[in-house]
Amino acid sequence: MAAPSIPRIQILPPALANQIAAGEVVERPASVLKELVENALDAGAQRIEIEAEVGGIGLIRVRDDGCGIHHDDLPMALSPHATSKIHHEEELLNITTLGFRGEALASIGAVSRLSLCSRIADSEHGWCVRENTPAQPIAHPVGTTVEARDLFYNTPARRRFLRGEKTEFIRLRTIQTQLALSHFEISFRISYNRRPFLTLPACARPLEQLKRITELCGRTFTEHSMYFKRETEGLCLWGWLGHPEFARSQTDLQYCYVNHRMVRDKLLRHAARQAYGDRLPQGRHPSYLLYLELPTHQIDVNAHPTKHEVRFRESRRVHGFIVRTLAEILERTEPEEEHRLVS
Ligand code: ADP
Ligand code: MG
Repeated sequence: MAAPSIPRIQILPPALANQIAAGEVVERPASVLKELVENALDAGAQRIEIEAEVGGIGLIRVRDDGCGIHHDDLPMALSPHATSKIHHEEELLNITTLGFRGEALASIGAVSRLSLCSRIADSEHGWCVRENTPAQPIAHPVGTTVEARDLFYNTPARRRFLRGEKTEFIRLRTIQTQLALSHFEISFRISYNRRPFLTLPACARPLEQLKRITELCGRTFTEHSMYFKRETEGLCLWGWLGHPEFARSQTDLQYCYVNHRMVRDKLLRHAARQAYGDRLPQGRHPSYLLYLELPTHQIDVNAHPTKHEVRFRESRRVHGFIVRTLAEILERTEPEEEHRLVS
């Protein structure tokens, strides 16, 4: 009898390994947009410009006026596990930036035609790397431009999983909204298929922020929501709570942020749902924008590659604080007048 053939083990070629790893981070154009804008936010940008074409499959370009990347580091920025945001294991427990895994640019570069151009303030011009060619000098303002073209051009199986342009565009818009609501102090300019699509000036005070919220969530939401802010023992919760009578058939107007990181967090949603309790008609969902702020060592953001989830060190205390705070706000009949939208 012939001996069974034993499958032999080999290390995957780096390009293939990167393509496989990219699956964790880059699901569709919207995930590319999220990663690029988060990098711009981490770089301290004040203005972020987004351009997308053909549902983001054809092009996503994000330009920022942040700190830029040192030209010696440009090629390295595209390598897996390359990051300037953490250096030691202990820092994992105290993450203050949105990124830290050093995976996004490598992943996006593995599944699209990527170019990265950047200039730091000390340099007279910028530098650009395209598809792993050596860095070339270019004219560029201080800051960074990242361009991802032809998403999944080299992984047809993944490309087939993408929806049509319209659906991908809707997903881009959802992510844009989530990002623009995460940082009111930053201005965003968005164009789609080479036409201006949305301009959101920076806004510092709640009243100005309401204009951005109206633009993104609709006037009905802002007219039926209350601004609030409560702080206790290192926990701060603020945001806008939709009146129970503005309950919706969908959960599409529920935005949650933990330390300005957009999250799909079960704990926050559960706490909010509990606070609304039976104030909501059956089968209807509340609308809200919730911003939770707490010391970084109280959360673990390294729970998932997309960083959409966080773990709370003291989840019961956080849950209780949210339920109590929101229930108290909902009990009050009069909204905090100064923060209502003046029509
Ligand atoms: P991470 O954000 O997890 O560090 P990325 O792959 O997204 O990993 O980016 C790698 C590195 O490239 C970052 O750590 C940062 O130093 C640099 N970088 C990426 N985008 C920008 C940007 N827009 N501005 C400045 N630096 C950037
Ligand atoms: Mg990043």
